[in-house]
Amino acid sequence: MEVTANKLFNYIRCRRFAALNDANSPTDSLKNNNYYQKTISKFKDIFLGLNYYEKLSYVKDINYTYDFHHDFTLSENFDFIFNDKDIYILISASSKEFLNLKYKFASHTHQLFKKNSQGYYQLDKSGKNSVNYQQKLNKLFAKNEISGQVILKYAFMQYLYKNIFPKKDFNLFFVLINEEYVHDGMAYTDKLYHIFDFSNLDELDKKIEISLFRMINHIELNDFTPCELERNACLRGKPLQCKFVDFCYSHLPKENSIFDYFNPHLGFKEKLKKTYIHHDTYELLNEGYIKMEDIPMDWLKNKNRLMQRYCLDNNVTYINKEKINIILSHLKYPLVFLDLSYMPIIIPKFKHEKPFDNISFQYSLFTQKENEKIDLDSDSYIHNFKESRSDNRNEFAEKFVNDVLRYDSSIIVYKKPQIIKILQGSKLIFPHLKSKLEIIIERVVDILDILKIDPKFFKDHNIKNVDLSTYNFYDNKLSGSYSRSKLAKVFNFEKINDLTINDDKTEYKIFRLFNDNDESTKDKLKLDMMIYSKYKAYLLYKIIDKLKQMISA
Ligand code: SF4
Repeated sequence: MEVTANKLFNYIRCRRFAALNDANSPTDSLKNNNYYQKTISKFKDIFLGLNYYEKLSYVKDINYTYDFHHDFTLSENFDFIFNDKDIYILISASSKEFLNLKYKFASHTHQLFKKNSQGYYQLDKSGKNSVNYQQKLNKLFAKNEISGQVILKYAFMQYLYKNIFPKKDFNLFFVLINEEYVHDGMAYTDKLYHIFDFSNLDELDKKIEISLFRMINHIELNDFTPCELERNACLRGKPLQCKFVDFCYSHLPKENSIFDYFNPHLGFKEKLKKTYIHHDTYELLNEGYIKMEDIPMDWLKNKNRLMQRYCLDNNVTYINKEKINIILSHLKYPLVFLDLSYMPIIIPKFKHEKPFDNISFQYSLFTQKENEKIDLDSDSYIHNFKESRSDNRNEFAEKFVNDVLRYDSSIIVYKKPQIIKILQGSKLIFPHLKSKLEIIIERVVDILDILKIDPKFFKDHNIKNVDLSTYNFYDNKLSGSYSRSKLAKVFNFEKINDLTINDDKTEYKIFRLFNDNDESTKDKLKLDMMIYSKYKAYLLYKIIDKLKQMISA
């Protein structure tokens, strides 16, 4: 069996993984991700271009294998080896996973990784006697953290190379992306990345050997029976989620499981005579608590959780008409219902863009006059789509601000913080639009603030004597989530869930590779993306419309 660092990471999650997984099946989803492959290839070209000099001898994309034990062969790809000794591996993660690790010692805060004389980041060991330093070190290695996965890969590659070339001096460096880099639109600089030297981390070889034997043990056991479900092994709902989560959690109800209580990571509190017992959600799950109703009522201290349970037990919808009415009566007509679609990038392409920015690529909006009913064919509908190959951001941004600001209106969106972040970033890219963007930011209203709670709104309007601790609206069908697909179910617009593209991730993944398609496929994809964006904007209208009906009923 061929073992990569990623395979090792997966096989040591738990005992059951080995029995469920076909040894030859891939465990690294990025291997088949075209956008990721294109990005890493571009990153390699940039890195080589910036480090090349005439007498540099180098090899690129070299695969090494090492026969570790019986049928187990360790295998990894080494991106660059310069002058037969300096090895560089390029990672598409942000360097902030390491640079944000700080510890407190002698009343000062220190970074865990500091630049050495070479300009590369290395673990600073000067605070190793402080408790906080050890805590941060544990976090660094934790397998539920991106940093833990990167370190495991480093340790694995170092172990592999050392065993193949036991007498050779070499340096292994990992190159991660600097999230603070701002592209000047002309040429990339070495500020695009940060280089890490993890060689002074202790006992990396030992950790790899322990992990490898643990993996072999799991494979030999071949035990298919369920094991305890663990937060940090399954990583359910996290970027590193185990590929068998759907299977191992299939005994949970699809809706209203114990994970669907608000903030399930907080667990539940059982009151005893003089104290409380804290029950972790995973502990309860492994003890057989799977449905919302399995949790005793008196373990639900939080008002919003009690509201969820009340709605479930009585099959009713909760609406605080008074609070919603106050918010709706402050909206300024004609209302603009805006969907702004965006995608996360890894390497910036155009001037002023930064790694991991969200870049908008289409918007849809409907306008509604007071008391007007609008349908999907409304004349007020506006859509604009940005092709990604050339830099037409200015044209797109100018049309956007003019379309959105046609009226002196409230602008209803879904997830205001993300929209605001994009608009704030746009102020730096398009300084001539700064004042118009600020007006938009001022007018944006989040549909989630209407459905949940927005204490700032009540404070800004000097409205007192309203309950700011409970949400304004809840329905069982939400099952603890105010996602678009759940809201569509509750607000009678389920057809959005039947569209060819019906979630944001699919939408941006299609857009990322849009220009790789032929013209007729592009036309079809563009239409599918436009329809999804249009439906997202229309869903906002449907929600407000139904809330108004409920208030007046
Ligand atoms: S989902 Fe959890 S229990 Fe199931 S195989 Fe993965 S890590 Fe193991």
